Amino acid sequence: MPYTNDTPTPNTDKTLWWKILLGMALGIFLGYLLSPTGGQIVSETNATIFGEWIALPGVIFLGLLKMIVIPLVITSVILGVTDSGSLSFLKSMGMKIVPYFIATTFIAISIGILIVSAVNPAQYMNNAYVQDVMQSSDMPFAVFDSLTVPQRIENMMPVNFTQASLDKNMLQIVIFSILLGIVMLTLPRDTTKVFHDLCSFGQAASMKVIEWAMALAPYAVFGLICNVTIQMGIETIAGVGAYMACVLLGLAGMFIIYMLIVTLFTRFNVLGFLRGIRNAQIFAFSTSSSAATMPFSLKAAEENLKIDSKVSRFIIPLGATINMDGTALYQAAAALFLCNLFNVELSNIEIFILMLTTVGASIGTPATPGVGIIILATILAGIGVPPEGIAIILGVDRLLDMARTTLNVTGDLVATAVMERFSKG
Ligand code: ASP
Repeated sequence: MPYTNDTPTPNTDKTLWWKILLGMALGIFLGYLLSPTGGQIVSETNATIFGEWIALPGVIFLGLLKMIVIPLVITSVILGVTDSGSLSFLKSMGMKIVPYFIATTFIAISIGILIVSAVNPAQYMNNAYVQDVMQSSDMPFAVFDSLTVPQRIENMMPVNFTQASLDKNMLQIVIFSILLGIVMLTLPRDTTKVFHDLCSFGQAASMKVIEWAMALAPYAVFGLICNVTIQMGIETIAGVGAYMACVLLGLAGMFIIYMLIVTLFTRFNVLGFLRGIRNAQIFAFSTSSSAATMPFSLKAAEENLKIDSKVSRFIIPLGATINMDGTALYQAAAALFLCNLFNVELSNIEIFILMLTTVGASIGTPATPGVGIIILATILAGIGVPPEGIAIILGVDRLLDMARTTLNVTGDLVATAVMERFSKG
């Protein structure tokens, strides 16, 4: 007999979308006025101090989200597995969803690589600026590793759960949680009830924290964007404009593919589907965290799209942590852009290896704000690009993070709709 568990969802403010967009626009405007290379209405020192203060609500907002990510992921994955009701259901879902996730990730990466190859945004970059950033950079991004495939698989084993939490190794945490959920399904209900209730509490408590954090979202976005604009200057942002446009175009391309998948493989029409998932997309955009958006994705799937909760509660927590097509597309596009910038020539085989590495990297990227770019450093190290190159694209990462997280969450909801159809055979 499956557990039944009413997933609590945070309350949502219907006007949040507009407030966040307004926050973004005002943040860029004020940042430009204060920036030492823009309006210069205050001195450079004062602008820096002001930027730090105005970013404070954003820092608190991100801190709250990061704080709950691990408990939220663990409890949601465990509850997702136990709520699915049976091992045979899980097995059949798992056999379908894993190839689906890998296939869509490959499509996303191919789009990123095609667009950057066609446009070559590196040709629009100002060389003096690149030299300048590279010289002044002291990025803490030296995350080199050159592991073999068996070593990487060995690294996925959660041999020490505490270590996995300290390292924020989401893949190990997800594997551990899936195993624990499966163990619970095989044990008598009396033995597992207390732990199941504890997980329900952990999930509900995490969602409460998200609800509180969301009240800060428009101010957080305003302050963070304002601070980035003060620090980077509008010209710098414009300087990497072609690269940003490529990533955004790629994300839009993948979005169109998703809508095709919705039309061909689900029972929804595109407009109805988009109406149902709108709120989850808004939250993804404003939190830049697929994990923090999970409660809203569940709500969208179950309440708006009326998808069977057995499917959504398994696919959404899993998808939020390992299915990141937006992140994969972005990582591949950024890696190729930096290769072009530093004149690193890649052969076809090397591009294929880049694609494989990016699939793995996107799976291992924690579903929290701004980490896609850190994981990018490992990809760069593998293809001979100085990881310091990240400094060049760091300034615009917040904006791209918002966009790619929105696509990540859309991808999870599309996957849920597809799996609902195929779970019925
Ligand atoms: N912020 C992204 C997410 O949570 C991960 C990334 O940085 O790409 O989905």
